[in-house]
Amino acid sequence: MIVCFVEGDELSAQAVGFARALGPVRAVTFAGAYQPAAWAAALAAQEAEAIVAAGSDRGNELLAHVAAVLDQPFAANVVALDGDTVMRVRWGGSLLEEARLHGAPKLLTVAPHTQPAVETGEVEVLDAPDDGSPKALERVEESSGGVSLRDAKVVVSGGRGVGSAEGFGVIEELAGLLGGAVGCSRVVTSAGWRPHTDQVGQTGTKISADLYIACGISGATQHIAGAKGAKKILAINSDPEAPILASADYAVIGDLHEVVPAISAELRRVRG
Ligand SMILES: Cc1cc2nc3c(=O)[nH]c(=O)nc-3n(C[C@H](O)[C@H](O)[C@H](O)COP(=O)(O)OP(=O)(O)OC[C@H]3O[C@@H](n4cnc5c(N)ncnc54)[C@H](O)[C@@H]3O)c2cc1C
Repeated sequence: MIVCFVEGDELSAQAVGFARALGPVRAVTFAGAYQPAAWAAALAAQEAEAIVAAGSDRGNELLAHVAAVLDQPFAANVVALDGDTVMRVRWGGSLLEEARLHGAPKLLTVAPHTQPAVETGEVEVLDAPDDGSPKALERVEESSGGVSLRDAKVVVSGGRGVGSAEGFGVIEELAGLLGGAVGCSRVVTSAGWRPHTDQVGQTGTKISADLYIACGISGATQHIAGAKGAKKILAINSDPEAPILASADYAVIGDLHEVVPAISAELRRVRG
């Protein structure tokens, strides 16, 4: 029997689809506040050939806890399983790795959007007694603007080239004119210029905007991992050799402190 943890979302429905290809599936969930250690202990106590979850933040965290409880290996972001051999996504989607998954039960999460979603069917609510371990009592969505980065149709992002927290004024202005959200690179969050919730990339948000405007961002693989879901990318960069140009549909080579305000001014002029 395959035990599949579900949360009632699209990624969970994909995980169930993956699990069904392996054998009969028991879809399970928990009621109440998220308590990873307690939920993991309850999952670990199930009789299962494999324990599967979506490759979401929560799915990966929970399965990592299960792996610790059972002292078994865990493969995250799997796209295929054949016997002991897993194929899994690494490095933000830029590498497919074939690996051996020893141990029983097999513990794995399913790479998002690599499997079709299926009807989850009946979901059993497992009991997870409160063991006093940390639990999430409240979830507060932090947002620096009105539009969420994940859902925005336009994202205007700034990198090291912006130069300072104050420099983001021109980025915010353009994002506001386009009804979009502000994003940034990790250099920017590390410098404390913007909150981590604004970060686009492998360890930030993966966007799916119609248009991504990357200003003063070099285009490191880890950044592109979060930006490649955008339908069109416009790069504004002073360096004609910047790696981001390889991913961009359009580019303006120039100083963003001149180019971005010029675009905003033109938008204002056209709109009267
Ligand atoms: C495990 C791991 C995870 C990571 N996760 C992420 C992630 O999620 N997101 C992320 O972004 N990074 C991530 N990184 C960091 C990533 O590798 C890069 O270091 C980072 O993306 C670089 O940020 P940047 O492009 O802003 O800075 P830089 O690479 O320094 O690039 C700055 C760019 O600005 C241009 N520029 C400078 N001045 C101007 C100007 N006045 N006008 C126009 N252009 C100008 C330069 O030509 C250059 O191209 C991760 C790294 C690791 C190791």
